Amino acid sequence: MNLILFGPPAAGKGTQAKKLVAERGFVQLSTGDMLRAARTSGTELGKRVAGIMDSGSLVSDEIVIALIEEQLNLNPKAAGFIFDGFPRTIPQSTALDDMLKSRGSQVHAVIRLKVDEQALINRITKRYEAEGRADDNPEAFRKRLDAYTNQTAPLIDVYRGQGKLQEIDGMASMEAVSAAIAGILDAHAKTTKAKGAGAKN
Ligand code: ADP
Repeated sequence: MNLILFGPPAAGKGTQAKKLVAERGFVQLSTGDMLRAARTSGTELGKRVAGIMDSGSLVSDEIVIALIEEQLNLNPKAAGFIFDGFPRTIPQSTALDDMLKSRGSQVHAVIRLKVDEQALINRITKRYEAEGRADDNPEAFRKRLDAYTNQTAPLIDVYRGQGKLQEIDGMASMEAVSAAIAGILDAHAKTTKAKGAGAKN
């Protein structure tokens, strides 16, 4: 099963994705983690994206799509992928559909963590104090929220139109959010089984 965890920056997608990896054997594909890894190891790509990331803007579609494609190729036998922080634009979502389709698969569900903006600002202010991530500084964070509103939020209607969108309360406790996600995944597994269709990837 291929799942997209969707929501604004600092909504808790990464935390939930890591839980699903540990508990259900998903392969997590986080473009944010991949880009940070490229920076840490000092690759050409890492150098190219550093300034863009720190400013809070999105890096180019071309770069993140290539990163995802590389990971899909590296994990041909994965039971399922969990996309975290990708897709973030309409062209990215179209590219994802094409990449999965060419592998005989598709996006099965999109889980949207709904959170309020002021709570995000509070969360990120704390994270900035604790971890010092450059793109958590107030100005960059404002830009990340704007990027979400302008470039990413339009995907909500796209996935709703495809009947794939499931919305949960991202302001609930971490445990409650995990339980809500688990409920959606279990219901999906049941439906797939009932249909007798193979849940291939
Ligand atoms: P967040 O904690 O804001 O969800 P991420 O760790 O997912 O952030 O991403 C950090 C930064 O990496 C983004 O602000 C952006 O510059 C870049 N980035 C990550 N994923 C993408 C993507 N799918 N498209 C464009 N840029 C991305």
